[in-house]
Amino acid sequence: MIVKPKMRGFICTTAHPEGCAANVREQVAYVQGQKPIDGPKRVLVVGSSTGYGLASRIAASFGCGAESVGIYFEKPGSGNRTASAGWYNNQAFEQEAQAAGLTAVGINGDAYSKEVKEQAIQAIREQLSGGQVDMVIYSLASPRRTDPETGETYSSVIKPLGQAFSGRTVDFHTGVVSDVTIEPATQEEKEGTVAVMGGEDWLLWMQALKGAGVLAPGCCTVAYSYLGPVITHAIYKDGTIGKAKEDLEEKCRAIDQMLASFEGKAFVSVNKALVTQSSSAIPVVPLYISLLFKVMKEKGTHEDCIQQMYRMLERLFAQEPGDWEAVSVDEAHRIRLDDWEMEPGVQDEVARLWGEITTENLAEHTDIAGYRSDFYRLFGFGRTELDYEKDTEV
Ligand code: NAD
Repeated sequence: MIVKPKMRGFICTTAHPEGCAANVREQVAYVQGQKPIDGPKRVLVVGSSTGYGLASRIAASFGCGAESVGIYFEKPGSGNRTASAGWYNNQAFEQEAQAAGLTAVGINGDAYSKEVKEQAIQAIREQLSGGQVDMVIYSLASPRRTDPETGETYSSVIKPLGQAFSGRTVDFHTGVVSDVTIEPATQEEKEGTVAVMGGEDWLLWMQALKGAGVLAPGCCTVAYSYLGPVITHAIYKDGTIGKAKEDLEEKCRAIDQMLASFEGKAFVSVNKALVTQSSSAIPVVPLYISLLFKVMKEKGTHEDCIQQMYRMLERLFAQEPGDWEAVSVDEAHRIRLDDWEMEPGVQDEVARLWGEITTENLAEHTDIAGYRSDFYRLFGFGRTELDYEKDTEV
């Protein structure tokens, strides 16, 4: 079938299998071109099919030679419907891993459920060397979560807290810059967002894995967060999602204590703002990212998910095994992979241009073209070496 991008709101409802596979191969090739890292040999990645989770799994597999179990929630293709991008990504990843002789087990299901946690434990026990993992990467981004105990389903929203927020945003498809006003979240929406995107499920994962005896001595775990500059604070850091990330940090401390008895460690890593399926749904953020990319590309410091995740593993495993105190962290014990994004030289330039952007000068002042291209790439489109007029097996 001939596969073209089909948009519905913020999401693209089609994905191109060969394009997704090429994206995965490109990330694998990047890591293979770097120095090997003496890092984890067996990893579990929760949220492993797109964005930061996929890049983490690729970096661990091809940078450290890790066996892996990956958990994701994706749709396979059926009839004349394509699979979701993450489904194709995962297929491609498994092929690459297999070719490199690396065990890679995929579990397609709801990571928030008890069943999937049990399946993961079984897969670690039966399919990974020694039946344990050395690292757990938690990279879920989801609009919903059903609590495994109560059966209640929570939704996550991106809204300010306390008062309405008015700011500038861009429709990256049309290039129209406009002002948006977003009403503040209700208490229920705030709690829902914390229940979905906070740290509770990460803690449940770690308790289940520890209880089952599948965490190796010295095991570390990392979950991802974002802080961003002042222009995004009302909608991100000080909004509903920021509350969820505060909860993630709180649960990080609880997990850290839990792992201390066997020299394990828990980290939150603050990553750079990048185009992923999740971030493109946040108002204001696409305009900020377009501006940020322009400035960072000019300075030569722009990175994508894979460069970020390789750098994270490098940082975590540069020292003697188990010497977690030597890992570079900020005052709140967070790994800061947003260091280059937050450099004053970068942020001053972004802030200077922020007030000047209009629909008319968008293309000149920002990297909206790069944003758009990254967005289509997420679904396997826009790769110049592929002929999108050709039939492909979905
Ligand atoms: P993404 O949408 O690209 O990936 C989300 C992953 O979670 C996918 O693999 C998806 O299959 C999986 N998933 C979602 N719901 C699931 C479920 N119920 N069960 C199993 N798997 C499920 O998102 P991303 O942008 O890579 O975000 C990952 C983490 O990184 C999030 O915590 C996010 O806040 C954080 N982060 C993102 C950015 C950014 O700019 N994108 C920046 C810093 C931090």
